[in-house]
Amino acid sequence: NSIIEVKDVTFTYSGAQRHALERVSLAVAEGEFVGVIGPSGAGKSTLAGVMSGAVPHHFTGELYGACLVDGKDTCEVTLTDVSRLVGSVLQDTDAQFVASNVRDELLFGLENFGVTRDEIPARMQQALETVGIEDLCDREIATLSGGQKQKVAIAAILALRPRVLVLDEPTAALDPASSTLVFETLREVNRSAGITVVVIEQKVALLSEYCSRVVVFEQGKLIFDDTPRKVFSHG
Ligand code: ADP
Ligand code: ADP
Repeated sequence: NSIIEVKDVTFTYSGAQRHALERVSLAVAEGEFVGVIGPSGAGKSTLAGVMSGAVPHHFTGELYGACLVDGKDTCEVTLTDVSRLVGSVLQDTDAQFVASNVRDELLFGLENFGVTRDEIPARMQQALETVGIEDLCDREIATLSGGQKQKVAIAAILALRPRVLVLDEPTAALDPASSTLVFETLREVNRSAGITVVVIEQKVALLSEYCSRVVVFEQGKLIFDDTPRKVFSHG
């Protein structure tokens, strides 16, 4: 049973000379941990946008095909509806944060989603615990490291209890040790909370270690979709 089903999607940004995605099909089953790799401009972020409803609700362009999230066509529901199922963490967390400290960042999303006052503390606590950053709760976000910011962004999304977490290069700005910690966090989220993870990542070692499946993009096309072992033996 697929939680996300990208069906023959071709997407061209308004004014662009070529397709960002071309005839892409990809079904993600609940509980999977999928890595997405490919060179810059290959369409990875656009795919993340398709899965999280940013395409078509946020980015304008020409879309063919469809993306179903939990069986619902993202074109036929609101972005808010999609975001209740698919949480997305942007590459640039500073562009994602709406508050100046960690507690307010989590609080904002929870209030926005209409979570009741008496339920909020437990939701916050659980999200911070899952990511292992209870100690950062009272910190100003501006004083945190890149790795800590990624964890805050993940916790803020987790507090909203999505079924799927989509992340766009969460380790791009991180050193190797922090990158591994972010992936350990994702493994915990995947295994303990049972949340499906789709992560764009360029580091082959991380994909090999943590993902059950890797999809490779090149020039808007999905060119490989297999276990990390099989994908990376193609060179
Ligand atoms: P087909 O309809 O056969 O799939 P495409 O629409 O993919 O063909 O276009 C073929 C080539 O033309 C691709 O390399 C694509 O990037 C390019 N292309 C598509 N649309 C445009 C456009 N509006 N302007 C310039 N090049 C385009
Ligand atoms: P990747 O994440 O693999 O680097 P993207 O999905 O960001 O690839 O980009 C795929 C293609 O779409 C590229 O040709 C890129 O220039 C183009 N593109 C991405 N975002 C936009 C946008 N907002 N407007 C126009 N073209 C875009």
